[in-house]
Amino acid sequence: MKVSLEFLYHFHCDRCRKWWSRADIEPQIGEQVYCPYCGHVNIVEVVQTFRNAARGGSCLSQRPDEK
Ligand SMILES: [Zn+2]
Repeated sequence: MKVSLEFLYHFHCDRCRKWWSRADIEPQIGEQVYCPYCGHVNIVEVVQTFRNAARGGSCLSQRPDEK
């Protein structure tokens, strides 16, 4: 059996608050990312990993879209 790992990055638009995802291409701090829904140009400020989020308790105490 072969096992493959995929990195899946989730983006949250600052303007319309919708989510979309991108696989394997790591976002860079300062990168411009266009929202596929409203076209807003977002700037990547932080790449938060699940482990970092779990330490802060944010993903356990509130849903990601409630920030
Ligand atoms: Zn948007």
